[in-house]
Amino acid sequence: MTPLEALKRYFGYDSFRPGQADIVDALLAGQDVLAVMPTGAGKSLCYQIPALLLPGVTLVVSPLISLMQDQVKALSTAGVPAAFINSTLTDRQIALALQRAAEGSYKIIYVAPERLETAVFRDFAAGAEISMVTVDEAHCISQWGQDFRPSYVKILDFVAGLPRRPILSAFTATATREVQEDIRCTLRLQNPKLLATGFDRPNLFFAVEHTRHKDDYVIQYLREHPGESGIIYCATRKNVDKLQQLLAQYGFAVTSYHAGLPAETRRKNQNDFIYDAAPVIVATNAFGMGIDKSNVRFVLHYNMPQSMENYYQEAGRAGRDGLPSQCVLLYSAQDVVINKFLLDRKDFAECEPEDAELLHQRDLQRLQTMERYCQTTDCLRNTILTYFGEHPTAPCGSCGNCSGDYEEADLTAEAKWIINCVAELRGRYGKAVVLGTLQGANRARLRELGADRMKSYGKLKGTPRETLDRLLAQLLNDGYLLQTKDQYAVLHLGDITPLQQGAQVLVKLPPRHEPEHTPAPKPKRSSMMDALTGAGLELFAQLRQLRFDIAQREGLPPYIIFGDKSLADMCLRAPQTQQDMLSIYGMGERKYEKYAAPFFAAISAYCAEHPGVALSLPSAQEQPAAPAEKPTKSGKAPKVDFYLTAEDAKEFNYQDSYSGAELKAALVEAASTPNVKAPTIKAIEEWLYHERLISMERFPKKGFYYVPTPAGVDAGLRSVDRVTASGMPYSVLDYTPDAQRLIVEHFIKMKPEENSST
Ligand code: ADP
Ligand code: MG
Repeated sequence: MTPLEALKRYFGYDSFRPGQADIVDALLAGQDVLAVMPTGAGKSLCYQIPALLLPGVTLVVSPLISLMQDQVKALSTAGVPAAFINSTLTDRQIALALQRAAEGSYKIIYVAPERLETAVFRDFAAGAEISMVTVDEAHCISQWGQDFRPSYVKILDFVAGLPRRPILSAFTATATREVQEDIRCTLRLQNPKLLATGFDRPNLFFAVEHTRHKDDYVIQYLREHPGESGIIYCATRKNVDKLQQLLAQYGFAVTSYHAGLPAETRRKNQNDFIYDAAPVIVATNAFGMGIDKSNVRFVLHYNMPQSMENYYQEAGRAGRDGLPSQCVLLYSAQDVVINKFLLDRKDFAECEPEDAELLHQRDLQRLQTMERYCQTTDCLRNTILTYFGEHPTAPCGSCGNCSGDYEEADLTAEAKWIINCVAELRGRYGKAVVLGTLQGANRARLRELGADRMKSYGKLKGTPRETLDRLLAQLLNDGYLLQTKDQYAVLHLGDITPLQQGAQVLVKLPPRHEPEHTPAPKPKRSSMMDALTGAGLELFAQLRQLRFDIAQREGLPPYIIFGDKSLADMCLRAPQTQQDMLSIYGMGERKYEKYAAPFFAAISAYCAEHPGVALSLPSAQEQPAAPAEKPTKSGKAPKVDFYLTAEDAKEFNYQDSYSGAELKAALVEAASTPNVKAPTIKAIEEWLYHERLISMERFPKKGFYYVPTPAGVDAGLRSVDRVTASGMPYSVLDYTPDAQRLIVEHFIKMKPEENSST
């Protein structure tokens, strides 16, 4: 069997990833290896494939029990005979495992470093045919690293005591030169093949969100990513507890993890996360080492981490399966304050005073790096890669800053007007009144307050609302303005005196026109998921449930049965034959025998229930550039999202009050353009939510309804009280003419850019 055949047969993959084949070849040729590859790059296969093909057994030294158990489960489901030896086993179990190992029952044995020193293990090793010793997470051997494990140093003694020197291979994701040199020397690697793949993780999307409303952001994010698995990192245990409780109140299945929880609770919560019983976990940075969960779709940082090393390691836990995944850092100026505070209290008691000072300086520098990452308008991916010593050229085109296309604008003059307006209103009103005044809105409410007679009235009439929102956010962030925390969120002047002469307010904005001569960004990477239609996504959800049920029955983490990517591939190709099914991504022979049948059944049932349905469409990139009028399969011209022209807006039938459904009907009535999709009430409500004009109220058991925020009331939204069939009070939104106007204006803005050819 060749390495490629083994890759396909056991793991169901068609090709090696960058670097893997070189490592496998070197090991099979008997050469030592030291490989530095980022998290998720696929280090395990680099030693598992040779282990399968070499005679005898491979010992894998691994620092974490959970990690070993996970790997052994994954190998067993793939049909590779493997075992682990660690402190979770009784002496009897260990003796039994070693006896079977001596009989040659296993190709791979995972072992905790402490076990190597025990007499039983040494006895076993003396008589066994050990072809290779692999050191995973090899940076634990280095005293330079943060994760130094004294027992790792003993690996060398163990190897030296073997009757025949095995091939040695070491793997790590930590890149610094010192650590690499340490690994090499401590393990006495002989003329090793050194391999460091790039640090880029192309499937990760990086973004920084400047927001003071982190809770709202997280809630909204989870609503937009239902059923997805993710980690939310917080700086402190207190934040973890608070956020976890809040999210649970909102009905999300979240668990938590930090060092303050009892060991038993920690273990249970971690398992709930791994087994997708609670797909989202809120945690401090104590969580994550040894978590190889492959389908983590997002990592949110509720607070800014203390260093880029920490950030990349934590964020890197997203997307191990190679599917697009998001890493979003929520930033507020407060984070810097918290971190400085934490650093000032850090205890250097065990160091010499000079060293303590040096270490403190280094910590502050790391913090500054993170601060710059949060503030930069450059490509975020490149900022990270540059920090790790790479030299990327073109912007990546697929991080928050690249796709946001920010441009820094000097908005000092506008900032002064906002501050003046808040002063003129004597700090008694919220955002809607302040911005309405500055934009010269013709609202009864403003006339009633006398705002239309103020100096600032209409002074920023020409400035787009989005710009004002960003500017206001920044003024709040910078402390020029403050917002009360009660439900009215009144704006008033901050502790910092109004802008002094020469002070500048720079704000990141999306550009109004194409940037001139920036290098062309790399093309956006499309994914299997992007190609799935609504039906395809529905089937995906069904297969995911099926996987969950099987996993529950077998007591395995779901991703060990099939990764998300395998499920997506099944939806994409709707396999009909054994041949089709075996060519699915990640479908090894053993997995085919064990698990394929129910998936076959589910797919054909779905297709039978929905005859002729398209599960996927070619992704936008693969589609040839076509004229806008190209007919779709159904023979109709493609639909564009709903919008109104200025002419349509005049036709809109304003009424004293509209429900959501009535408003939708009136919008459709006013629109003159053919080929627009009807607007949905959901989309309207989501926009209002995003604008913070409405907020969510929770039903006691499940679900949400919306109520206007004070700003929403200002903008003309009302709530009408109702009662559910079971007697539960709730309310529905009602749109007065002011609110109707707001929605009409919103849809005018949704009009697509004119096409130059039309
Ligand atoms: P690392 O140890 O480098 O962090 P893993 O070994 O855990 O990463 O691999 C991450 C994921 O990538 C796993 O789900 C693994 O199955 C997958 N993978 C590894 N190699 C390949 C490959 N050649 N093709 C497809 N998927 C792969
Ligand atoms: Mg690994």
